[in-house]
Amino acid sequence: MPHRHFTRLRRALVAFLALALTALALAGCGRPGSPPVKGPKGSELPQYQVAKDFSLPDSPTWVRAKKRGHLIIGVKEDQPYLGERDPASGLYSGFDIEIARMASAALGFPPDTIEFKTIASANRETALQNGQIDLYVGTYTINDKRKKLVGFAGPYYMAGQSLLVRADETDIKGPGDLAGRRVCSAAGSTPYQRMQTEYPKAVLVAYDTYSVCVDNLLTYQVDAVTTDDAILLGYAAKVPDELKVVGKPFSQEPYGIGVPHGDDALRLALDDALAADEANGNWQKAYDATLGLSGVPAPKPPPIDRYPAS
Ligand code: GLU
Repeated sequence: MPHRHFTRLRRALVAFLALALTALALAGCGRPGSPPVKGPKGSELPQYQVAKDFSLPDSPTWVRAKKRGHLIIGVKEDQPYLGERDPASGLYSGFDIEIARMASAALGFPPDTIEFKTIASANRETALQNGQIDLYVGTYTINDKRKKLVGFAGPYYMAGQSLLVRADETDIKGPGDLAGRRVCSAAGSTPYQRMQTEYPKAVLVAYDTYSVCVDNLLTYQVDAVTTDDAILLGYAAKVPDELKVVGKPFSQEPYGIGVPHGDDALRLALDDALAADEANGNWQKAYDATLGLSGVPAPKPPPIDRYPAS
């Protein structure tokens, strides 16, 4: 009897391990970025020149990555045209993924060696602080509160908070119309915090990701989703008959590349890289082939903020 019990236990353990391994494989860590299945052709994406004999000895993050042989970059996997992971191939694509590839090339690591890790909004600072990732590129707003915990290169794009509603919604036209309505956003995000402090009459619902919010919107569990316009336009573009973005953006969300706090050598090297890729046309080309597909022509990138070390 005890033996049989043990066997059953072992079988359960094996089954559990197999399941866990499948889940890990599905999580697809370590796959390089690539164009989405229905998105741009590879030929339309920029080819980033890998910096030769590049060295950044003053950056502990770079030195660690050099020893490892590649960069580990935190991204999103459910934000159309920004950071999207194809579940079949495990490949990542989108504007943020292109910024990550650009950064990798500039630091001397071929972009196709990047190990991407999906990290939710609420976990970005911790992931950079505990060395789980070297960089983070995923609709990451630069602000003073976060600058106490991490560093930011950039900004490389300026977004603004907006609202996504069902196509047949007529009452919600701006954040002032949300009193008593259920509004969904991602935990740990700036749009969530802004709703909490500036629109307390809205009934705020939080999930880890915006795609879960969008599912809740489509199934009438919530009345609106709020986050950056760049993210919402992507969801709307995927199902234009069912969803629409309403009103004007009501915040400024400058996107930066997150780096570990205090690694100023890395931060400033990435500022230089962004400036170079904006000047040589790569930034525009990357935008046109990714985020541009959600319908907004390429804006002028915001000025880079090389802020002093803190
Ligand atoms: N840009 C905002 C933020 O960093 C919202 C998007 C996101 O959650 O990634 O919080």
